[in-house]
Amino acid sequence: ETVINRIAAGEVIQRPANALKELIENSLDAKSTNIQITVKNGGLKYIQIQDNGVGIRKDDFSIVCERFTTSKLQKFEDLSSISTYGFRGEALASISHVAHLTIQSKTASEKCAYRAQFIDGKLNGPPKLIAGNQGTQIIVEDLFYNMNVRKRALKSASEEYQKIADVVGKYAIHNASVGFSLKKFGENNDIRTPVGSNQTDNIRTIYGNSIARELTEFSLEDDKYKFKANGQMTNVNYSTKRMNFLLFINHRLVECQSLKKSIDQVYTNYLPKNMHPFIYLSLKLDPKNVDVNVHPTKHEVHFLNEEQIVEIITAAVEKKLLGCNN
Ligand code: ADP
Ligand code: MG
Repeated sequence: ETVINRIAAGEVIQRPANALKELIENSLDAKSTNIQITVKNGGLKYIQIQDNGVGIRKDDFSIVCERFTTSKLQKFEDLSSISTYGFRGEALASISHVAHLTIQSKTASEKCAYRAQFIDGKLNGPPKLIAGNQGTQIIVEDLFYNMNVRKRALKSASEEYQKIADVVGKYAIHNASVGFSLKKFGENNDIRTPVGSNQTDNIRTIYGNSIARELTEFSLEDDKYKFKANGQMTNVNYSTKRMNFLLFINHRLVECQSLKKSIDQVYTNYLPKNMHPFIYLSLKLDPKNVDVNVHPTKHEVHFLNEEQIVEIITAAVEKKLLGCNN
């Protein structure tokens, strides 16, 4: 049974950046306004994430790492949000099967913080009382210590770190009002975005001013297919060799090749040959219309009326590019 759980967990958690993405989403779900991340060895040795969110009650420590246990689905209708957030209640459980997991947390209503370690989905001893501020600190150590094959398949620590920085940067842009920081243990911050910042400033901080100064905001709402889209796109004065496409669907960082290619195609008429834009796009769809069969870790999503929605967004982008803004 442990082996099966471990294999399943290895499917959900494929690399450090992937584990961190789940942890960031948990901190955001917990209404944190400040999220600080420290890693060692590209996250393979150590990932620490500290937030100032609502915290985990002492009594809930025993269940947070049980598979399919979540505090986030209260009503039956909430089940539809599975389609955006994937298989819920799987992240911490999975991490505890493939790494050493320590959780420290304090809620507003409790006087003290508690700290506990987890192994294979279970508490390794009762939570211990300690001093601490409100919020949650999660430490993931020795990722894949029990999965040598997976460990060998990973890239170098510096490449894994790049993937981590990429994820943190994108979430910092999407959640601009939340403060984010990322650093390697014992070093200075590589990323730091202040609490209460805005998207353009965070794009400047993370991707540089050459992008930030050429951005145009766009937003659209469609009644027929019931979606909203808003974002930032570079104009014709900016271009790059590899397209930067930051896509969030219902606040989850995802990939969607059809949308990416379609938007990129528009720019080919306006940019030098083989050059591409920077696009940040937040798309809000009815959760019922996002394909539940795509596993969240595969990242690539499909949704109902994809072709039509892609076409509408692409047309809006083209209109903006042409400057006929109506
Ligand atoms: P899910 O996010 O799908 O509910 P997870 O395995 O990611 O499942 O987390 C399990 C539960 O642990 C969450 O439902 C939540 O109650 C609690 N939890 C995890 N991380 C945090 C956090 N940073 N702050 C507060 N609660 C958390
Ligand atoms: Mg989660």
